[in-house]
Amino acid sequence: MAKNPGKKIVLTSDSTMMSSYHGGVMLGFAAIMPRAVLPQRILRSFFCPPVPAAGDGSAKIAPCGMRKVEAALLDAGFSRDEVMVAHPDHLEKAIGPETRIVGITHDDPMGKIAARELEDIIGRGPPHNRSSFLALVNHPLIREHRPRVVVGGNGSWEVMGENVGVDHIYLGEGESDFPEVCRKILRGEDVPPVIRGGAVPAESIPVNRGATVGGIVEIGRGCWRGCAFCSPAMRTVRHRPLQNILEDVRQNLENGQMDLILHSEDVLTYGSKGMETSEEKVLKLVKSVKELGPHTVDFSHMSLATVHHNQNLVRKVSEVAGIGSDQKYMSAWIGIETGSCRILEMHMPRKALPGDIGEWPEIVRDCYRLFDEESWLPVASLVLGLPGEKAEDVIKTIELVESLKDYTGLMLPLFFTTISGTKLGGIKGFGKDDALPEHWQLVGLCLEYNLKHLKTLHRLYSERMTAGPFVHAALSGINLVADFALGKYMKRMKRGEPPN
Ligand code: SF4
Repeated sequence: MAKNPGKKIVLTSDSTMMSSYHGGVMLGFAAIMPRAVLPQRILRSFFCPPVPAAGDGSAKIAPCGMRKVEAALLDAGFSRDEVMVAHPDHLEKAIGPETRIVGITHDDPMGKIAARELEDIIGRGPPHNRSSFLALVNHPLIREHRPRVVVGGNGSWEVMGENVGVDHIYLGEGESDFPEVCRKILRGEDVPPVIRGGAVPAESIPVNRGATVGGIVEIGRGCWRGCAFCSPAMRTVRHRPLQNILEDVRQNLENGQMDLILHSEDVLTYGSKGMETSEEKVLKLVKSVKELGPHTVDFSHMSLATVHHNQNLVRKVSEVAGIGSDQKYMSAWIGIETGSCRILEMHMPRKALPGDIGEWPEIVRDCYRLFDEESWLPVASLVLGLPGEKAEDVIKTIELVESLKDYTGLMLPLFFTTISGTKLGGIKGFGKDDALPEHWQLVGLCLEYNLKHLKTLHRLYSERMTAGPFVHAALSGINLVADFALGKYMKRMKRGEPPN
């Protein structure tokens, strides 16, 4: 059989990114576990199974960012014959002697965001996401044919300064400059090792040509709140026209992705530039999406301050989305970050607007009460170790988390990581050796909270999951094992001691 010549431009990622997650995107968090704790076989079978592949080796489902880059290349004049979104298990059908560019999209290629504290806590080697990314970059076909490897996506900054076999790091929005970068590489022109892509206007964010992981449908970009550690804060706020959003919804539904996640940094502000919401536009968005017949609709992110200021809008969204009738609940990622108004003032001065920064803990509690009444499931992040944080600030966060412990949800304590280009970009990140006893108490408390709610979350989340009874039974078993295995770490940390 003749050797596959390969596509000129291959877009792909490793299996931790190109997974169906059995329809439950939160299972993807398992990729931050080290291989020594969660063996590869278990990760692949129960948490991150690969996306389905087409006969030609392309991926039937791909991360939303990769779909946008694919669409931008096609819109810029590249042909379908030149560009392929390739399945990581079938690269032999995509990469060959004619392949000139392999574009890898990744959210956390080196495990610098979500895994650092776990790596510190458990101390059992690198996380799956890092190992899988490095294995992809060093894939035998890439070594043999030597295409240029370009890494883009939200986590591409993590590769800066790392000698891992990447030729170009693409920071910023792929649709703006990536097609021209590809042309330059194909013409043999020089391209710098770090490329900074500009922003594209909302109406130029292209319509996808296929389904996305998690059924993610991008509705807008950027955030005006300007938190000092955050990368979306660096992007101008834009919202896509409704018709383009609905086209992306159709792409998902036609390709079998029936559970959708509407994505922006604050979905409730769709159609508005600042802190005031446009109720009419938000409700029209949700209603129009619902009319196309998805199984469920979730929001990716919401600002708690927006929720607090627009509680009636949340109730109306629940009604339009059919929570309690068409779907049991709705989930959204929210940022609590801290219980300390002092830390908020220092690093997130606009976080509570239009509310008062001094009311932050009460704003958070009010929102949790509302979520509970309306059957919304919050997945909350906390940032530990922001510059200037003292024991008394951490105690305020502990008190806040304590007061939320009976509300179902997930609480993710993240060590402060310095993200290149943000206001705190040049500052050293927070690590295990910097942790105060109060930090360990907070991590232990979050672990206790998560273990307490995991079974309920699994039951509720099953509504979206495509997994069969065997996988559900295995996940329930893994819940029990996690309860047992993590219990000893939790007890130590709740006493204010490091976990090991
Ligand atoms: S509110 Fe959230 S998305 Fe906006 S800048 Fe702050 S952390 Fe980033």
